[in-house]
Amino acid sequence: MPSLLDRFRGCLLGQAVADGLGAPWEGLPADLIFVKGPAEKIVQHASGEVLQYTDDTQMAIGVAEALIKAGRIDQDVLIQAFVANYEPDRGYGQGARRLLSAVAEGGDWRELVQSILPGGSFGNGGAMRVAPVGLFFHNDLDRVAHEAALSAEVTHAHPLGIDGARLLALAVALAIRQSEFEASMFFSELHARAETEEFQWQLATIQKLDPLDAIGMFGNSLEAHRSVVTAIACFAASPRDYSTAIRYAIGQGDDVDTLAAMAGAISGAHLGIGQIPSRLVVALENDEKGRDYLGQLASQLHERFQELA
Ligand SMILES: [Mg+2]
Repeated sequence: MPSLLDRFRGCLLGQAVADGLGAPWEGLPADLIFVKGPAEKIVQHASGEVLQYTDDTQMAIGVAEALIKAGRIDQDVLIQAFVANYEPDRGYGQGARRLLSAVAEGGDWRELVQSILPGGSFGNGGAMRVAPVGLFFHNDLDRVAHEAALSAEVTHAHPLGIDGARLLALAVALAIRQSEFEASMFFSELHARAETEEFQWQLATIQKLDPLDAIGMFGNSLEAHRSVVTAIACFAASPRDYSTAIRYAIGQGDDVDTLAAMAGAISGAHLGIGQIPSRLVVALENDEKGRDYLGQLASQLHERFQELA
C-alpha cells in the first residue's frame, strides 16, 4: 500500500503529467483525437517529448503553496499565490486572465471577481486546481467541502463552480481514504454532499451505472457540471490503473487537459507515485516549478499536514 506521502506526490505529479498529456489535444473533438491519437497511444507517450502542464496545474501549485503558508484556505493568500505564479500562455481562460492581471496591478479581487464575472463563473476552474485541498484535509470531509468552496470562490463563485470544486476535492479525499476502491461507498458519499441539483442528479445516476458506461454521459466541456463527474468517472472506471484513467479522459475530446488533470489528481492520490509510469514522470517539464518542485511541494504539504494533524 502506498504511504501517505506517496499519495500526496502521486496526486500532484499525477495531475501535472495528465495535464501535460492532454494539453496538445485541448479543444479537439473526440473523433479527431481518435484518428490522430488515439488516446491509448497518447498516454503511452512514446515520443518522450517534454510534457508541459497548463493553467490547471499552475493554479493547483498555488493552492498547495497557499495551504502550506496559511494552514488553511485564506482567500487573500490564495489569490496572491495565483498572481505570483501566473503565466498567461499556460492556457488561462479570459476571465482568469483579466482577473489575475488586474489583481497583479493592485486591484481588490473581491470587487474585480464580481465586475469581471457577474453572477460567478460556473466553469471547471475551481475544480481543476482544488486537489491539494482534498489531500490536506482528507481526514475531515466536512472541512474538505468547506475549504474547497472557499478556494473556488476567488474566481468561480457560481454555485455550480463551487460545487464542482467541492466534489473534486472530496473525490481526492475519498480516494486517499479508501485503500481498496469501493464504488458504491465513494459515489454515495459524493452524492450526499452535492449541493446543486445538477450534481445531485449526475451522482444519483452514476450509482445505477457501470462507471465505464457513465464516462460519456456527463459532458466534456469547460462547465463544472459538464466535466467534473466525467473526470471522476474516468478514475472510477479504472481505479487500479493510472494510464487507463487518463486514456478515458483524453478520449472524451474537448476540454481534455482539464478532464485529464482532474482524473490524474484523483488516480494519483489513490494509487501513489509508484503507480504512475516513471517514463511519464520523467517526461514532465523540470524548469522552475516543474517535476522536482512538484515533488518537494508534495513533501512540504505532507509535512504541514502532519504538523496540524
Ligand atoms: Mg488547462
